[in-house]
Amino acid sequence: MSDVAVTSTVDFERPGKQVGRLQVPRSTNESGWSNLFVPAVCIQNGRGPSVLITAGVHGDEPEGQVAALNLARETEPEHVRGRLIILPCMSPDASRAYSRLWPDGANLNRSFPGSATGAPDQQLADYVTRVLFPLTDAVCDLHSGGRSMMCLPWSEMHMVTDRAQRGAMVDAMLAWGTDYHFIYINIAGGGLLVDEAERQGKITIGTELGGGGHTTAAIHRLAEHGLRNFLRHLGVLAGTAATRASRGLPPPVILRAVSADDYVLAPESGLFETLVTLGQEVGAGEPLGRLHFPERPDRPPVDVHAETAGVVCSIRAIATTGQGDCLVVTGQRCGRDELLE
Ligand SMILES: [Zn+2]
Repeated sequence: MSDVAVTSTVDFERPGKQVGRLQVPRSTNESGWSNLFVPAVCIQNGRGPSVLITAGVHGDEPEGQVAALNLARETEPEHVRGRLIILPCMSPDASRAYSRLWPDGANLNRSFPGSATGAPDQQLADYVTRVLFPLTDAVCDLHSGGRSMMCLPWSEMHMVTDRAQRGAMVDAMLAWGTDYHFIYINIAGGGLLVDEAERQGKITIGTELGGGGHTTAAIHRLAEHGLRNFLRHLGVLAGTAATRASRGLPPPVILRAVSADDYVLAPESGLFETLVTLGQEVGAGEPLGRLHFPERPDRPPVDVHAETAGVVCSIRAIATTGQGDCLVVTGQRCGRDELLE
């Protein structure tokens, strides 16, 4: 495509394994004539599905970046049927800074579908939208709660309207084999990478692999297994996908948070004291936490209550809280069949 601003050292039509980069033109205070290098790996072998894995869209989410780097390094053409494209670190400057947003304040996960004539984040989004998505059948965008949120680790999806697409997405989401899966809505704006992939009809899955500013060995193991099992399920990676039953595990818990009331926002600024833990069942009206006012020791804390009954999916990880920050997310248990209705 001639009018895209981003260039690639990888030929996504070439068989074999290539390790290269996308280059996004930019001009900064420190470097007037510069390109942002975004690492890209393409592994192609014969006929089969074409799958795009993206990670590090947010720089303070290392879990997916590590899993994608391991996958990219360890996968050879003989392991692949079709094409596997891996962008393991989509926001390199943010990743180096361990920050969610780009240094210029851009949130790449609000930049889609992007623009060839916009800022660098817009140009990168545009390339993914118009060059990479059309090459793929399925997209998995690896996220976590980052520094500001702790999430039960899960794979997730939106309830897209197309039944066939949604059914394929449910199966692909479940193929992660995690204890929890999450059905969500956008409560903090659109322009997500997955929004555009869904719009193009792709089997589109995301993850939230923990978060809270630190990563455990258990999370890395979960990401490692889940990502590969997802790729085996799609048939792009050799081997048989394992079921939870074959691993001696109980059925997963599917949690659905599709009402704005499931996302509890801080009514005013304060210091957040959480009263609940991830995975805990709460009733509607039950206290989730309290906001304290360090400047006013005489002022009692304000209770924050669950607006809907459910399971605590996500808790704010940074106690210092501004008005409107998301404190707790609750999700309601649902069955697989309910997702297909
Ligand atoms: Zn993220």
